[in-house]
Amino acid sequence: MNSHPDNLGYYGTFGGAYIPELLYDNVEELRNAYLKIMGTDSYRSELASLLKDYVGRPTPLFYAANLSEKYGTKIYLKREDLCHTGAHKLNNVVGQALLAKRMGKKHIIAETGAGQHGVATATVCALLKLPCTVFMGKKDTQRQELNVLRMNMLGAEVIPVTSGSQTLKDATNDAIRYWINHPDNTYYLIGSTIGPHPYPDLVARLQAVISQEMMSQLLEKEGRKDPDYVIACVGGGSNAAGAFFHFIGNGTTKLIGAEASGEGIHSGKTAATISIGSEGILHGTRTILMQTSDGQVEEAHSISAGLDYPGIGPLHAWLHKSKQALYLPVTDDEAMQAALSLTRMEGIIPALESAHALAILDKQTFKPSDVVVISLSGRGDKDMVSFQHYFA
Ligand SMILES: *Cc1c(COP(=O)(O)O)cnc(C)c1O
Repeated sequence: MNSHPDNLGYYGTFGGAYIPELLYDNVEELRNAYLKIMGTDSYRSELASLLKDYVGRPTPLFYAANLSEKYGTKIYLKREDLCHTGAHKLNNVVGQALLAKRMGKKHIIAETGAGQHGVATATVCALLKLPCTVFMGKKDTQRQELNVLRMNMLGAEVIPVTSGSQTLKDATNDAIRYWINHPDNTYYLIGSTIGPHPYPDLVARLQAVISQEMMSQLLEKEGRKDPDYVIACVGGGSNAAGAFFHFIGNGTTKLIGAEASGEGIHSGKTAATISIGSEGILHGTRTILMQTSDGQVEEAHSISAGLDYPGIGPLHAWLHKSKQALYLPVTDDEAMQAALSLTRMEGIIPALESAHALAILDKQTFKPSDVVVISLSGRGDKDMVSFQHYFA
């Protein structure tokens, strides 16, 4: 297969748009617009210019010599941690905000859990002079106060959501409700390869710049554009989708996703969707999710806020089911150790999410000639308190 869904947004049996009647027109408007607008010269050149001079692309592909020596193979790190705001998230947000402008939308809304997607959205909205409203569970606003302060300073309005468990899923409900009630001028900016079609495809296309750059960087450094392995962590799956994108179905590259198993797959405190989940509908898409036998969505747990999600994007559900990619669980402890190990060996403090991908190095065996690329999705500054508690 290639990396795109069919016309209705299906990757094999996963994807589609399972939405209430009231959302139909909004989603249909986006579906009709996105490929047309993204194909225009004006969109492409404005996006390329912002990715280069604002986000800081291309990000380096760094040969990690010390890590390579330890594991007896050739390990490269794709440095998404060096993007503006500290992770890959801006690749997507810049692209969608430019799309929203061209669709004539005057107001951006987003939901956020830990606040990283909210900060990325507020950042680009400041740049493009777009008013921005971020829905965030009240509990999350208290746990992630620094990100709330950032969003406020950037000029975004943060709405603390007090319904339900006061976390991400309640924030999502309120954002959708707002969108239904203000369809004409509002653009709903989703932060990962999740949600109803066309969002998973739209976000994957915008993150595909990651594997696009890898190809030319590997050609220059290794004389071939296809690596033997690409490894990335999977929350909703956007950095992994971007890192896998151009290698899917090439017959040579093994794709490995690291999902957060928290305190263990069967501990009840896990976010290992592929390991213990089953097929169903989550946030408008048919995918794999963690649910009880009667279909209630289970609460996820991971030490890293960005992987704390009870589902996975439909592209990954399909890559798993069709055995085109391998998904392995990584515990909180394994991720912590991998983060410390990278820090001491290469002088790079990774985000806790990215540390899950690094932990895969201990779970696979590689040949000396293998070229292994790891998506270093973000930097660890935001996780310093977690590191300090854990290693104290
Ligand atoms: C948000 C985030 C993730 C998880 O999101 P994906 O859509 O799965 O990529 C991973 N790493 C970092 C650093 C993040 O900020």
